[in-house]
Amino acid sequence: MTQSTEDRGERVADFTLPEGCVLCGGEVSIRATPAGAHSYCASCRHLSRPQLRMRKDSLELIYATDVRA
Ligand SMILES: [Zn+2]
Repeated sequence: MTQSTEDRGERVADFTLPEGCVLCGGEVSIRATPAGAHSYCASCRHLSRPQLRMRKDSLELIYATDVRA
């Protein structure tokens, strides 16, 4: 088994996506951790937990349609 390094905090990535909000098109702050990603829109305060998929030269965000509080 490969030991996870998630407790060392080295794999947390913070970045922003201009016009990344699915609701208002505002700028979204993304925090990606080994446990999952969180997105937060400062404009409409929409919180989401998109799935992140790393590609060779880009990043894909997948928003689940589960909107349960
Ligand atoms: Zn928004």
